Amino acid sequence: SLFEYAPAPESRSVVDIAPSYGLFIDGEFTEAADGKVFKTVSPSSEEVLSEVARAGAEDVDRAVRAARKAFEKWSALPGSERAKYLFRIARIIQERSRELAVLETLDNGKPIRETRDADLPLVAAHFFYYAGWADKLDHAGFGADPRPLGVAGQVIPWNFPLLMLAWKIAPALATGNTVVLKPAETTPLSALFFADICRQAGLPKGVVNILPGYGDAGAALVAHPDVNKVAFTGSTAVGKEIAKTVAGTRKKLTLELGGKGANIVFDDAPIDQAVEGIVSGIFFNQGQVCCAGSRLLVQESIHDELLDSLKRRLSTLRLGDPLDKNTDIGAINSAEQLARITTLVERGEAEGAERWSPECELPTSGFWFAPTLFTNVTQAHTVARDEIFGPVLSVLTFRTPDEAVAKANNTPYGLSAGIWTEKGSRILAMASKLRAGVVWSNTFNKFDPTSPFGGYKESGFGREGGRHGLEAYLDV
Ligand code: NAD
Repeated sequence: SLFEYAPAPESRSVVDIAPSYGLFIDGEFTEAADGKVFKTVSPSSEEVLSEVARAGAEDVDRAVRAARKAFEKWSALPGSERAKYLFRIARIIQERSRELAVLETLDNGKPIRETRDADLPLVAAHFFYYAGWADKLDHAGFGADPRPLGVAGQVIPWNFPLLMLAWKIAPALATGNTVVLKPAETTPLSALFFADICRQAGLPKGVVNILPGYGDAGAALVAHPDVNKVAFTGSTAVGKEIAKTVAGTRKKLTLELGGKGANIVFDDAPIDQAVEGIVSGIFFNQGQVCCAGSRLLVQESIHDELLDSLKRRLSTLRLGDPLDKNTDIGAINSAEQLARITTLVERGEAEGAERWSPECELPTSGFWFAPTLFTNVTQAHTVARDEIFGPVLSVLTFRTPDEAVAKANNTPYGLSAGIWTEKGSRILAMASKLRAGVVWSNTFNKFDPTSPFGGYKESGFGREGGRHGLEAYLDV
């Protein structure tokens, strides 16, 4: 089908990575004004993949000017014309998806099976979906003649580099805005390949600008006086900084932040299916997923049985070369992230939670962490409260649905939750009580461009995806 473009088994040679890349401003690749560069490495081998220009405040200014200039013509195009560019981009992504999947796996460390079967199809689907909206904005229920905001400043994280780019850029362009996007410092490459795709699609210069760099470039972009809309995905700490910067300006803001999702399993759940959902809920992308099901809430009566099944299943997971299509668990994205995970796991042990991992040999180079379970966990434990953003599952128990809801909601976050039960009435009753932006039932980590995604509480505000995702980029 249109959205399931599955390339063949992968090898490094599928993608041609240049030894150096520039910033992408006004349709051209260019050096940073101060000539600074940084290296991007493969997390699974620590091999340097490329040297990339590092944007500073002057480059941000150059890019915002280019985007401002492009806005006049881009926003004046009929929606049907903008749609043509977006459809073209979507098709090129499909055509180049094999190359993009390998590139993303090399730069991020995630298994090729995930980039090939999840990230890339969803990236293309987002561009197709928002292409379809571009000429229908008058009928989106926002009133006649909704207007684009202007220049969107977008800052994204490293866990789904190309998918987060798609979530940001597709709705922005469909609604007639222009974009300056800063990818994360550890995963700049797929965004730079996307810049090349924009050129291939003939997108007018300045409509999309890509500024690889660090947090300082992100901060400069957010603070730039000629940016009209700020969209951020990343940590709650940085999200709060950004909210402060934007306060008192007229910039529109959406924040997609951290999470501590509860996966709630009742005693009538289909156990084998639940085990698969628990595993994909927390070990997909090595748990580096904002909506990961990082807390397992299991009904007391099936605790032992479920844990036995879960441990057996975890013992079959294959950790290793992310380019091997049989790999389930890839590398952690960076040495910093590995250190963060290690610290939190050590704290979990020190606080008395019981740690378990299957037997597995970790590669000697690169950044790796074995799938980890914590049992004997209470709500007071750090591993039950803090977002670990790694392959670590904390197991708690409950007796009644009310207790499950109370425990699930006992977190400052509110991004995701899962309910496993055969009782449809219970699913509906609980879903409305869970303070989470998405509630899955008898599945987990399912995404679709038609469905809005976003958080309650400290998981952020605003929605991306679906018709709601348009609203963030329009004056209505
Ligand atoms: P991070 O907040 O450190 O970085 C995210 C991005 O912000 C990067 O591009 C970084 O360079 C930039 N940045 C850093 N400091 C900045 C500043 N002061 N001003 C502007 N930009 C700045 O987060 P991370 O470690 O890259 O990602 C992990 C976090 O992101 C996790 O907490 C995770 O839950 C969250 N996340 C949330 C979602 C979501 O949709 N809610 C999705 C993915 C990741």
